[in-house]
Amino acid sequence: MILDGKKISEEILLEVKNKVYDLHLSLAVIQIGNDQSSNVYINQKKKLCNILNIAFIHHKLDLNISEKEVLKLIDVLNEDQTTGILLQLPIPNHLDTKKIQNRINYKKDVDGLNNINVCNLINNKPGIIPCTAKGIMTLLNKYNIKVAGKNVVVVGRSNIVGKPISNLLLNSDATVTVCHSKTKNLAYFTKNADILIAATGKKHLITNSMVKEGAVIIDVGINKIDNKLYGDVDFEKIKNISSYITPVPGGIGPMTIASLAENLYDAYILQQED
Ligand code: NAD
Repeated sequence: MILDGKKISEEILLEVKNKVYDLHLSLAVIQIGNDQSSNVYINQKKKLCNILNIAFIHHKLDLNISEKEVLKLIDVLNEDQTTGILLQLPIPNHLDTKKIQNRINYKKDVDGLNNINVCNLINNKPGIIPCTAKGIMTLLNKYNIKVAGKNVVVVGRSNIVGKPISNLLLNSDATVTVCHSKTKNLAYFTKNADILIAATGKKHLITNSMVKEGAVIIDVGINKIDNKLYGDVDFEKIKNISSYITPVPGGIGPMTIASLAENLYDAYILQQED
């Protein structure tokens, strides 16, 4: 069965739209440089804001901007009426990503990557959760796929996907194994997975011989090759072995966008508590 992220995300967007349409919320996206993939992702966020009647403010900064200047902009946004602030990754190497993320007021941190939000997630306390990880959990919930007691294997350990989804799963009582580029014999782990989550950015890394019959497969990967999108999972070979599987595109991508919408509303609510 296909896990239809596109359909579920449309349902979520409608719910969020009803809540935020008249609230005059705003999203500030900080882009440093002119990365082509970033331009595509920023356009998606702009479209999202149009749908939700959220003001979209794009701060496109020079590739060589100093860290001091970036921090100064964030200080201004922290103090003004902006609802959500998002640092579009990647940023140039001369800038300290974590330092900049930590400067964002955690109540405006719609990416959930500020240390306060990261700590809340690790401690299983309420906070803003990184969009892709949140989207995966929402999709599993919507299809009534229980994770408690399941063997879940996460392939990828990035701060933005692998680590937050591993923590969310632990918080929901799954038994979590995290694999990464230094893992020896990846198939040994993946074959044992009731639920397999691939977030590596390696086209078709996961093949049919690496998957247990009846497993749930979540493919986070977006690999653009010759203008075509591929996941980390060999969908065609695995779709008949798995019980549930996400397509690429139309799976976790739209769920990530829907989670950003939810995070914007959550950020607004958090700021009302001030
Ligand atoms: P990343 O490059 O930061 O991390 C990749 C991870 O994969 C690393 O932890 C690395 O150790 C692991 N890895 C790489 N090669 C491996 C291998 N051969 N075997 C096992 N592990 C391996 O990437 P990321 O930001 O976490 O993104 C991962 C993928 O997910 C990318 O394709 C990215 O485009 C996609 N992504 C999609 C969405 C979405 O909305 N669908 C959101 C974020 C990222």
